[in-house]
Amino acid sequence: MKLTRTVVLESLPLTRRKFEAIKEVYDEYSAILEFLTDYAVENRVKSHLKLRKLFYGKLKEEYDLPTHYYYTVCQDAVTRAKSFLELKKKGRAGTEKPVVRKISLWLDDVLWDYKRFPQFNTLKDGRKILVIGLTTKRGRVKLPLKPHKLFFKYLNEGWKVKAGVKLHIVEKERKVLAYFVFEKEFDERELTGNFLSVDYNADNVSFGTGEFLIQVQTELGRLTRFYSSVRKGIQESHSVGWNRKLPSTRGKELLRKFGRRKMSRRIDLQRKLAKRLVEVAKELNTTIVLEVVPKNFNQKVTKRRRKSEKRLRDTLHNIGMNGFQRFVLEKAIEYGVPVVFVNPSYSSQVCPHCGAFKVKPDDDALRRRVFECPVCGFSLDRDFVAVLNLLGLFPFSPKACEPPVEDSVSPVMLVVEANLLHHKNSLVVVSECLQRK
Ligand SMILES: [Zn+2]
Repeated sequence: MKLTRTVVLESLPLTRRKFEAIKEVYDEYSAILEFLTDYAVENRVKSHLKLRKLFYGKLKEEYDLPTHYYYTVCQDAVTRAKSFLELKKKGRAGTEKPVVRKISLWLDDVLWDYKRFPQFNTLKDGRKILVIGLTTKRGRVKLPLKPHKLFFKYLNEGWKVKAGVKLHIVEKERKVLAYFVFEKEFDERELTGNFLSVDYNADNVSFGTGEFLIQVQTELGRLTRFYSSVRKGIQESHSVGWNRKLPSTRGKELLRKFGRRKMSRRIDLQRKLAKRLVEVAKELNTTIVLEVVPKNFNQKVTKRRRKSEKRLRDTLHNIGMNGFQRFVLEKAIEYGVPVVFVNPSYSSQVCPHCGAFKVKPDDDALRRRVFECPVCGFSLDRDFVAVLNLLGLFPFSPKACEPPVEDSVSPVMLVVEANLLHHKNSLVVVSECLQRK
């Protein structure tokens, strides 16, 4: 299985001449990109070769960019057009025409010395600078980029740089950001006999095996609600228009800023948690069990519960279950830990002790987030119940109802705070302690 990672490198501040040479290409590229994207959407062109055939001569006459940019701009335009048409089909486009934002210059491998990559220069203070060259209308320009720890880590671990780098320019600081894509092939692992299942919720992530259960309090739901209120505050105090419904320029800026901050806090926590989880699974030589996330997960759940629809959708969207599953999967592939996906239906409505099926909690139990079995009296945190049922290790699957077994498994349980994740191998230590108990 192939994994890819994007790494961003910042350039040193560029000389005015260099920057202008790049900016000139960038501006023309942007103009062409906007034009071609519109054309591709209107005429439903889905092949970049076709688009290039149609416009190459005309563009060459009008612009005079180095030839290879016409290749990449056509690919760029077709990619954008396709995703816009896809959104439109689903009724989620929001606009009639595609809006071309966040333009990056797609370089072709011919445009920079891919074969001589990576090529470093060493500064006086011993720092290494990565140099890539690109062609502009005023000749070749050498771009000095600042490589960081992560970049070297991928290089050293045998990841390969994919051809094609994207450049984004930061006009204010006369800098360029270069986006490199690394890729690496990993072997698929055979399943091991032991399983560790994971249940993802708004405010905690629970996981465990037959021997132990750990719940990490992530409070992602609370984080989301906090930022919703920040958002509301900004909308109230920074609005314009006759009915004061539109955010002002400053308001928009603030909304973007806090939106980004929320995203990065969430992603940071999810990544850390995913990594720690995979470390535990590797240490114990287990297969990770994840639940299958239906494609339209967010819409589905909201449809079922109209009442606090908007708020719920907000929370679900923002806790980003899909993202978390992907982080776990990627880390697992990287660490060589096998993963299986199981159908989570009824995972919170089956008694893991006696197999009683479709246990509907009353309001009080729901509020306390406790599962209580009306048949055998077994009671446990709802999220732990889901973990146990996902494991499927228990004597009763939802479909097979048999008499209870006296000594069914009783794992050791622990609830921990998210800040534990800062310490390397922390969850491994905790799980090993629990197992020994
Ligand atoms: Zn029961």
